Amino acid sequence: MSDQKRVPVFDGHNDTLLKLYANSQADKVGLFVDGAPASWHIDLPRARKGGLAGGMFAIFPPPLEQRRATASSALSVDEPLPPELPLEAARGFTFAMAAILLELDRAGALKICRSAAEVSAAMHNDMMAAIFHIEGAEAIDPRLDALEVLHAAGLRSLGIVWSRPNAFGQGVPFRYPSSPDTGDGLTDAGKALVKACNELKILIDLSHLNEKGFRDVAALTDAPLVATHSNVHAICAHARNLTDWQLGAIRDTGGMVGLNFATGFLNPKGPGAGGANIEMMVRHIDALLEALGEDGVGLGSDFDGAPIPPEIGDAAGLPRLIEAFAKHGYGTALIEKIAWKNWVSMLERTIG
Ligand code: ZN
Repeated sequence: MSDQKRVPVFDGHNDTLLKLYANSQADKVGLFVDGAPASWHIDLPRARKGGLAGGMFAIFPPPLEQRRATASSALSVDEPLPPELPLEAARGFTFAMAAILLELDRAGALKICRSAAEVSAAMHNDMMAAIFHIEGAEAIDPRLDALEVLHAAGLRSLGIVWSRPNAFGQGVPFRYPSSPDTGDGLTDAGKALVKACNELKILIDLSHLNEKGFRDVAALTDAPLVATHSNVHAICAHARNLTDWQLGAIRDTGGMVGLNFATGFLNPKGPGAGGANIEMMVRHIDALLEALGEDGVGLGSDFDGAPIPPEIGDAAGLPRLIEAFAKHGYGTALIEKIAWKNWVSMLERTIG
């Protein structure tokens, strides 16, 4: 393959920690380093093969009743949301997955990066650069004591909600077609959480948040607006995708969006319409570039959290996406921005 194969990727979202947590094998480091089951998207051998050099590693506290190993099905056109997750249960899940992340770091399988400079250094040293991310703040008490502790453990990125409601706000349901304006905005505790994240320099992830919550964050935060793994609503009218107004608000703050590879958020006909392909991915990227400019677009695969186009398959297939970008006419400089440079720059402007 051409030179493009060597373009490294820093990715805005994966759910590999949930896969590791849910797997019965006790040796989580071995699973990640030596190779995970073929159905997974990320392990170190496949990351090396595909140029996946780093990413946001999400901790997603799964629903109690069905500890399934996917964070979002993205297959159903209207999936009922699980009930709110009690704080103690969420804390158990969140700490267990944080412990796996810390163990991977201690074993030298990846590096938990606390700044953009640490991400750059890890990528330079061929060490998987991981940002400690939480998707759904259920483990955090309204007094935000846990936020301080998690920040000290390395937390640098937080999605206030996954799709179910919590003490801070409400997410969008997995519904197509649907506007993202599906419920109330942030609670007072949610608003306090935004200010606390600004203070601690924790990136706030808007993917999954409903429109009123999005507006509340936009009004309160002093950081650029970021949706780590969301697509374009004008192309695929899923509640999880971003409307023209949301994209405009992100652009106005110099913010950023990572392309979600989940087939149900890519296909213009929505989930259940026969999957998706690389051509659809490029179409969303074109629209994101149009809306946000060359500095506002990255990748946010949702690897290990959702079904993705079979042409990509897993992290080893990333060069096929890079190749499609080149064939579509994106130059090397733009491809590098989308693949990793924009994320590093965004981290510099948010977590420091
Ligand atoms: Zn997600």
